[in-house]
Amino acid sequence: MNSLLNVPLSQWPEIIEGLGGEAYRAAQLIDWIFKKRVFSFKKMSNISQKVREGLEKNYSIRSLMLSGAEESKVDGTTRYFFKTEDGHDVSCVYLPFEHRRSLCLSTQAGCAWGCVFCASGQVKFQRNLTPSEMIDQVFFIEEIVGKPLDSLLFMGMGEPLANYNALVDTLNMVRSPLGLGFGARHVTVSTSGLVPQIEMLAESAPKVNLAISLHAANDPLRKTLLPKSSAWSIKEVLNAAKTYSKKTGATVTFEYVLLGGVNDSEQDAKRLANLIRGLARYGDYWVNLIAYNPVPGLPYVKPEADKVDLFKSILTVRQVPVRVRKPQGVDIGAGCGQLGEAR
Ligand code: SF4
Repeated sequence: MNSLLNVPLSQWPEIIEGLGGEAYRAAQLIDWIFKKRVFSFKKMSNISQKVREGLEKNYSIRSLMLSGAEESKVDGTTRYFFKTEDGHDVSCVYLPFEHRRSLCLSTQAGCAWGCVFCASGQVKFQRNLTPSEMIDQVFFIEEIVGKPLDSLLFMGMGEPLANYNALVDTLNMVRSPLGLGFGARHVTVSTSGLVPQIEMLAESAPKVNLAISLHAANDPLRKTLLPKSSAWSIKEVLNAAKTYSKKTGATVTFEYVLLGGVNDSEQDAKRLANLIRGLARYGDYWVNLIAYNPVPGLPYVKPEADKVDLFKSILTVRQVPVRVRKPQGVDIGAGCGQLGEAR
C-alpha cells in the first residue's frame, strides 16, 4: 500500500477533503505523524472516523522493516539494516558525537554512479527510495535512540540528486516546521556533481547544505575516479556550486577522498587550492579531506598520515578552509565510502 508520506505535504488537505473531512484537519494529521509519532490512523482521535477509515483503506505510513544492526566497538557508530516492502536492502548509519547525534541516510537501493573507490558503487542499482523510505530511516533511529537527531546527512547509499523529485519531497518534510523541522544548517545533501540537478536544487528546494564530491583536481583524473559524474567538467561543477551558494546562501563543502598514491600529491593539493580559493567571495566553502577507508576487493589504499597533514597544510597556507573528516564506524564497514551490500 502507498505510504501517505509519498504524497507531498501540500496535497494532504486535498486528500482529507476527498475523504469528506475539512482541509484544516491536515495539520492535525501531520501533527500526529511527525510530532506525536503515532503511526496508526485509528488512534488519531481528533480526526473523524470517516476520514480515518478512508486513510486506513488507502494509505499506510511506515514502509521499512528493521532487519538488523551492527555497532562499532571503537566509536559507537551503528549501521542499521532494513528491508523495503518489495525486498530491497536499505541501510543507514547512526553517528553519535560528543554533543550531537547525526544520521547518514540512503536515497537509493544500490547505486548506478560507479565511483571506483566506493563500496556503494559496487552494489547494483535496484531502485530509487521513496520519500517515505527516506523519512522512515529517521523515524526508526529516533525511536531506537530515544532522542531527536541533530542533523541529517543524505550521504548513504545512492546518488541523492539522481532521485531528484523524491529527494525534494523528502527535504520539504525534513525542513518544514510542521514536519521534522530540521534547520537548514542541520541538513546536508551530497552529490557526486550532477550539475543540472544542483542548479535545480538552488531554484526549487528548501535550503540545505551541499557536499560536492570532487576527489580530483583535474578532469582526466576525475574521469578515472568518477566515470559517470565526470560528464560535467570540474569547471562546470564549480560554476554550479557558485550558483547554489549565491542563490541559497548555504554552505558548500567539497569532498576530497585521499587515495594513497593516486590523488594525494603536493601537486594535487596545490591544484585543488587554486580551484577553490577564488570561490570564497561567492559564499561559504570548505574542503573536507577524507583519508580513504579501505573497501575489500578494491585496489585503493589509505594515504600515509604525513601526506594527509601536508595536503591539509598546503590548502591552509593558501587560505582554503579545510577539515580532515574524523573516521567513524570503519571497523564495521560503515565509514565514508564503505557502505556496501548488507552482510
Ligand atoms: S560516491 Fe555516491 S554516487 Fe558515487 S558510487 Fe558511491 S554512493 Fe554512488
